[in-house]
Amino acid sequence: MTDALPSYLSCENVGAWENYLDQVERVAPHLDKPLIPWIETLRRPKRSLIVDVPIRLDSGAVAHFEGYRVHHNLSRGPGKGSVRFHPEVTLSEVMALAAWMTIKNAVVQVPYGGAKGGIRVDPKKLSRAELERLTRRYTMEINVLLGPDRDIPAPDVNTNEQVMAWMMDTYSMNQGRTVTGVVTGKPLSLGGSLGRRDATGRGVFICAREAARRLGIPIEGARVAVQGFGNVGAAAARIFAEHGAKVVALQDESGALHREAGLDLAALAAHDAAAGGIAGFAGAAALSAEEFWRVPCEFLIPAAVENQITEANAGAIAAKVVVEGANGPTTPAADRILRERGVTVIPDVIANAGGVTVSYFEWVQDISSFFWSEAEINQRLDRIMVEAFNGIWEVAQARRLPLRTAAFVVGCNRVLEARALRGLYP
Ligand code: NAD
Repeated sequence: MTDALPSYLSCENVGAWENYLDQVERVAPHLDKPLIPWIETLRRPKRSLIVDVPIRLDSGAVAHFEGYRVHHNLSRGPGKGSVRFHPEVTLSEVMALAAWMTIKNAVVQVPYGGAKGGIRVDPKKLSRAELERLTRRYTMEINVLLGPDRDIPAPDVNTNEQVMAWMMDTYSMNQGRTVTGVVTGKPLSLGGSLGRRDATGRGVFICAREAARRLGIPIEGARVAVQGFGNVGAAAARIFAEHGAKVVALQDESGALHREAGLDLAALAAHDAAAGGIAGFAGAAALSAEEFWRVPCEFLIPAAVENQITEANAGAIAAKVVVEGANGPTTPAADRILRERGVTVIPDVIANAGGVTVSYFEWVQDISSFFWSEAEINQRLDRIMVEAFNGIWEVAQARRLPLRTAAFVVGCNRVLEARALRGLYP
């Protein structure tokens, strides 16, 4: 395997899909030999649906939005992956996010294929009623793909429990019965699972804890910097703090903050809820975006969007471990720089897999109509994450591979084995 990047990846303007294809190229020489003829499967989404989503605005005018749902690979089970509402959503981004779900679901061995969806929209510009109409119309437009044994969406950037409740209701009304298992990340009162809200952040922490143990970094007193104060970032920050770490820096869309003694996360959450962002919080110093990446810390958690750690900032990152809470936060060029500088990168396909793992628990609970305690859920989550992390760490050590390539070895071998066993129809 060579470390040189293909020419189309040497610039910073890397699309998420190109980033994913590069990861597949890197893993190819390390896959089980009999599976290599099937590798093209990973380079092609199984199906991609582009939909027009027209809604009536509160003003009476009609607005059109473009939406997507991609099934990347269904060899191991029904499609599973979230739905994102963001002004920069594109088909190729959704393809990449669906592909990472294929690998992630195989890494933690939940019985799903990889899917993802999204709408190119700035939801902050819509009223609540408009957002509901958008969600319901999108659900109907992608209805041909949905179902608890076909494709099960979940929340992602700018979508939440309420959006999942609307999706579940829309699907159910059209079925003529209540089908809770068609989406996960639902409110508790609608068949949601205890522990789901924190699950992705908790999984980030479990991976960090397992890496820290092997690298001899104590969690107690460790300095943590987090980008993104949403579902993933806020939960990860809080769980690190609960275990004695200090969250010294945070960044979101509104700005960045620093406090060497550790931020007061409860006060910050209250400020964020009132102000709609972390900027302006009185209990910390403001930082520029550039300064945020330079903050000395043991753990850096990118938990916002793709392509945040780039050639421009990777050289200045002063963290021992990067734990990818977000999907695709590191460009291929930045990944190489971090590797050369000896920074351990725990890749997204394991680091943020806690969310889909508890989504799987939610789906199992909905189907069986039998609900588990939070302690049971957190215990099972811990066991699955630790087992998956151990497997990846062992492959990385045995074959002298970066953790990302090792995770792809584990995940891709499982996907391609299922693909090969099923064979080609007809
Ligand atoms: P969210 O909408 O709840 O929060 C996103 C946060 O990122 C917000 O604080 C926002 O201000 C910040 N942000 C967005 N763009 C930014 C930018 N350019 N610079 C700095 N901050 C920025 O989203 P989320 O659900 O927490 O998802 C975050 C990431 O984690 C995404 O990559 C998502 O795909 C991934 N992920 C989420 C889950 C989940 O369970 N929600 C599971 C696995 C992976």
